[in-house]
This record gives sequence, C-alpha cells and structure tokens, in this order.
Amino acid sequence: MSVGRLDDVVRVLERELRLVDEEFVARMVYMRTRDPFKALVATIISQNTTEASTARALRRLSELCEISPEALARVPVEAIAEAIRPAGLQEAKARAIRGVAELVVKEYGGDFFRALEGTVEEVRERLMRVSGIGYKTVDVVLMNLGRPVLAVDTHIARVARRLGLAPASGGYLAVQRALQAELEREDPLKAHLLLIKFGRTICRARRPRCGECPLRGECKYYASQLAKAD
Ligand code: SF4
Repeated sequence: MSVGRLDDVVRVLERELRLVDEEFVARMVYMRTRDPFKALVATIISQNTTEASTARALRRLSELCEISPEALARVPVEAIAEAIRPAGLQEAKARAIRGVAELVVKEYGGDFFRALEGTVEEVRERLMRVSGIGYKTVDVVLMNLGRPVLAVDTHIARVARRLGLAPASGGYLAVQRALQAELEREDPLKAHLLLIKFGRTICRARRPRCGECPLRGECKYYASQLAKAD
C-alpha cells in the first residue's frame, strides 16, 4: 500500500476497525434526529471531553429544555452551563450554545437550515462569529449533512502528521486542506470516523501501539523512531 493518498489509509482502516454509532455522540444524534442543530449542540458539548460525558451532558440539557434555537435562546446561560456540567468547560460551552441559538433565531427566523446555506467558507464565516464555535464544529455539522468537507479533530491531526499526510506545523486549515486534497474517492465522514477511532485506539497520543499498526510500513513517525533506536 502506498500512503500517498488518504483513500488508501481509509481502506486499510475500514478493514481493521469496526465503527459503532455510540462511539460518536454527535453522529448518533444526527442519525437519530436528522436535526443539524442538535448535532451542532452535541459537537459543542463534546469539545475536550469523552463521548460518555457528552452523552450525559446532552441528556441533562434535553431534560432542561427542547434542544432547538427558539428554546435555547430563552434559557439563561447559567442554566445551560449547569445542565452540561458533566462535560466540563460548561460556562464557555453554554455561551456558545446560547450564542448560536440567538444568532439562528434573530438572523434566520429560527431555521438552522437557512444558516447552513452557501459554501463551506460562507457557513464557517457565519457561525464562527459566535465565540466558542470554530472550524471543526462547523465542519462536523456540514460533514454530517453530506457536504464534501473532512472535519479534523485532535486525533485526526496527530495521525495525519505522523503519517506525513499533513504539515508538521500549522493550524486547523493547514491540516484540513492537506487531508481534503488527499481524499479523492472515499466519503469524508467515513474517513473522519475511522481516523478518530484509529487515533483513540492505536495511534494514541501517548504510547502509540505501533507494533500492532497496519500502517507502520508507511509511517514517517515510526520510521523516525526506528532510526533513533539504531
Ligand atoms: S506506526 Fe505508530 S505512529 Fe505510525 S500511524 Fe501507526 S500507530 Fe501511529
């Protein structure tokens, strides 16, 4: 296999890993509801926490109020923060949730689909006016809707850099554009989920399990570790 193309990596990972819906709360929320606003809220809550904590915080939030722009725009930020406390960083996340709910109500009549019209760049620019909403959050929502964008999280960025598929330095857009350019045929969402699972289970941040890795023959990081050991 030549890992010059992300498509090749995705095909290898698809053979090796089994994806389970419950491992990705934002995805599961979208699959069950087909509501991109609920997926957005789940994605905001999921920042820097586990899927289990995200699920718990989301459940508590849905007990507080309906997860819709209209309902959340009326709930005090403090109440949202208290509901999503299990996910951590609750004040900042609550401000982001309340902020995007207000934006959708005031500028799009409560219709989140209208806020998602236009190019990827236009939607990013629109939603990222809300503090706490960044590239990844917007891209996850668009990707779930089937838009041709590969959202990058911390696991994906690490894996991509180790494999030499993305530049060693640079922020979100540097990695995202490099990976997007490498993905020609495979589905961005499938690539996203497989790379996250791979980063969580094998290419971990600390002590990656290189000995069991099906990609080690093509991995720049692994080659550099071998060279150091010589
Ligand atoms: S060989 Fe190691 S560092 Fe390279 S992709 Fe596999 S697990 Fe990650």
